[in-house]
Amino acid sequence: MSVQHDPVNRHPVHRADFDQVMVPNYAPAGFIPVRGEGSRVWDQSGRELIDLTGGIAVNVLGHAHPALVKALTEQAGAMWHISNVFTNEPALRLAKKLVEATFADRVFFCNSGAEANEAAFKLARRVAFERFGEDKYEIIAATNSFHGRTLFTVNVGGQPKYSDGFGPKIQGITHVPYNDLEALKAAVSDKTCAIVLEPIQGEGGVLPGELAYLQGARALCDQHNALLVFDEVQSGMGRSGSLFAYQHYGVTPDVLSSAKSLGGGFPIGAMLTTEALAKHLAVGTHGTTYGGNPLACAVGEAVIDTINTPEVLDGVKAKHARFKARLEQMGERYGVFSQVRGLGLLIGAVLSEPWKGKAKVILDAAALEGVMVLQAGPDVVRFAPSLVIDDADIDLGLDRLERAIASLTQG
Ligand SMILES: *Cc1c(COP(=O)(O)O)cnc(C)c1O
Repeated sequence: MSVQHDPVNRHPVHRADFDQVMVPNYAPAGFIPVRGEGSRVWDQSGRELIDLTGGIAVNVLGHAHPALVKALTEQAGAMWHISNVFTNEPALRLAKKLVEATFADRVFFCNSGAEANEAAFKLARRVAFERFGEDKYEIIAATNSFHGRTLFTVNVGGQPKYSDGFGPKIQGITHVPYNDLEALKAAVSDKTCAIVLEPIQGEGGVLPGELAYLQGARALCDQHNALLVFDEVQSGMGRSGSLFAYQHYGVTPDVLSSAKSLGGGFPIGAMLTTEALAKHLAVGTHGTTYGGNPLACAVGEAVIDTINTPEVLDGVKAKHARFKARLEQMGERYGVFSQVRGLGLLIGAVLSEPWKGKAKVILDAAALEGVMVLQAGPDVVRFAPSLVIDDADIDLGLDRLERAIASLTQG
């Protein structure tokens, strides 16, 4: 397929322009993708790549899915924005569907995962303040966790490289090793207002929570009048093979944050909670201009309608098995992976000892062979493709990855 060229009145741009005009907080690949369809992407030169990244667990239905294009373009012709001085139909429809499909009774919309977590953490502190007084504000989170890049969320996140060097830290946040229930027990107290966990650590290396750990966290919260907050920004919206990973585990949080796949590529975030907790965010306590934006919510509704079906969710489980078998085979053949872990279509291939630290090298070699993959830290190659990726695209993508690994082995 050919690439659509820019209209003549637009400036031609190249990857080199990035280093001239952008803040250097990212280091993007050497090519610029210009068009996508399903799990295939074309760059400026017309080269085709298989996309196994899903825009970092965002493009849950691939690129240009007809149902999402339809929802977006129909809403674009009706109304883009109206502000929270008014409500709007797409926001109410999406909220109803999220409430019907989960433990939650109430939804707060925002624009990103960080903002969904910011709302969750502020809610937890507010609830504790109003119910128990000003001494109950401590948040316990996991080492290596990731919750976003605002000041509050990098402080709750368990990766000092993201929170150091930005002035005084936010007080009252403790980190304990993930999947270590004894450490969690030792840290929790009656001053704890929330335990914050990703049911599957994404950025931290695609590490699934152990059932007993998540159950134990739930029990500790109940004992200490603390809220259990699940950050499902990455694990949610079908990626685990259930709509949300908490449903896979059968451990229900008090507050859940969602974003990434919720909009399938259109920016949206949501915080879900119960009626009893939601009432602590009374009129005026919190807000955001674009929260509940009609375009975002119209797309979100099409996403949930499409993915919250047995066909798609069962397909995720089958595709997990296909990935895992092939990656394990590759791991054995080239000695590259020591373990393949994750749930559904959030998969981490853990690099073996001799390959440790080389995830980025593999990413770059893979892109040269025509397949986009991710890393989750230096030691894990991560896959977060479309939930409806064709088996043929999985096979072709992994063929290309294998070629990349083979050439690195020889090189
Ligand atoms: C990506 C991510 C976030 C941050 O989401 P943004 O939309 O980038 O703000 C938060 N938590 C988890 C688990 C994530 O994977």
